[in-house]
Amino acid sequence: MTTFSVLILGSSSASPTLKRNPTSQLLNVNEQYYLVDCGEGTQTRLRENKIKFQRINHIFISHLHGDHYLGLIGLLQTMHLLGRTTPINIYAPEPLKEIIDLHLKYSGGFLRYPLHFNAISSKSSEIILENEQVKVSTVILDHRIPCTGFVFKEQPKLRKIKPQAIAYYRIPKYAINQLKKGEDFTHPDTGEIIKNELVTSKPAKSYSYAFCSDTKYSESIIPQIKDVDLLYHEATFMENESKRAVETYHSTAKQAATIALKANVNSLIIGHFSNRYLNLDGLLEEAKSIFENTQLAFENKWFEIAQSQ
Ligand SMILES: [Zn+2]
Ligand SMILES: [Zn+2]
Repeated sequence: MTTFSVLILGSSSASPTLKRNPTSQLLNVNEQYYLVDCGEGTQTRLRENKIKFQRINHIFISHLHGDHYLGLIGLLQTMHLLGRTTPINIYAPEPLKEIIDLHLKYSGGFLRYPLHFNAISSKSSEIILENEQVKVSTVILDHRIPCTGFVFKEQPKLRKIKPQAIAYYRIPKYAINQLKKGEDFTHPDTGEIIKNELVTSKPAKSYSYAFCSDTKYSESIIPQIKDVDLLYHEATFMENESKRAVETYHSTAKQAATIALKANVNSLIIGHFSNRYLNLDGLLEEAKSIFENTQLAFENKWFEIAQSQ
């Protein structure tokens, strides 16, 4: 059983509206939670979805425009008030550390839990987290200020044992784990080598998700997001505002879909919609004209990348 899904906590650009919040998402990888961007209102959306704050151990911030991080200090404070003692890991542009420290200094506050701050490079892509579940790397985006996207890749899974073959080749129990990892087995008495493929089958699929935050159209990101199962790409404007998109370092829905098509992803979510669009059908239509498997981000919607197998 695999869970790999994304919850949209905010789909708006710039400022919050009554219906939409600025960017934030929660990624669930086998019940481990990863928060991606933290615009205003993130806390209330988490509460609405009954997500326990204490289960979030890693927070990724794409860039320092307020619509992507102004909810963070509030969230950190609430975690403190809830009595958190487990460390929180933040991956963000370096100056955010100064902003957090300034707040703590002038509010006379402190955090009851350790805050591990990991400054990310805005110049070159890097792996910023690797644990048993996922590997997370950055994607350099093209925005007005340094901005990175994040690619989450599930770690390779273990190969599946073929029970009948195990019996046939008389494989002892102690060797099962090494076989699951893909190694061959040598019978200690006879020296006979049993090839791994004879007694195992290929592992379950490992899923991937790419989050491309604010950016103008940039084909340089394609190699890094190639073939992901799900891509989130901002789509602030419709095509008739394409000039405005270039000026503000944002993308149109068609451009987001073009990136999805060229990167050969399985499906696309578009978001970060300008407040000028009360109805989002036009954005969806324009994206679908290029890349059919497109959906709109909207608050409190879970997108299942994998549920079970
Ligand atoms: Zn933004
Ligand atoms: Zn921005």
